[in-house]
Amino acid sequence: MRLIAVDPWDCGCNECITGEYVALRWATDDNIADLLAGRLRNNLNNGTELDVTLTYRTDSTGRRTVMQVERVRVTYTHHDGQTQTWEPDPFRAGLAA
Ligand SMILES: [Zn+2]
Repeated sequence: MRLIAVDPWDCGCNECITGEYVALRWATDDNIADLLAGRLRNNLNNGTELDVTLTYRTDSTGRRTVMQVERVRVTYTHHDGQTQTWEPDPFRAGLAA
């Protein structure tokens, strides 16, 4: 089954069982990258917040010095206090050029 969407944190619907959707708590770094880039459909609950921290690093190896996104850290805090952090690839997530 091809994955097409990210579902809410604890979802256990039929599609999450068959692998068409993935519940947020089981999402991988690549799943989160694809969600941010719009390649996976967003089925998260209205109002869901993902904290996204970008770490930039100066890169002066090219013709001019630029700031490159080196790391993306995504954190979700569930209402019961559980948290999960992902580190999606910046390019895959569409946050670095
Ligand atoms: Zn589901």
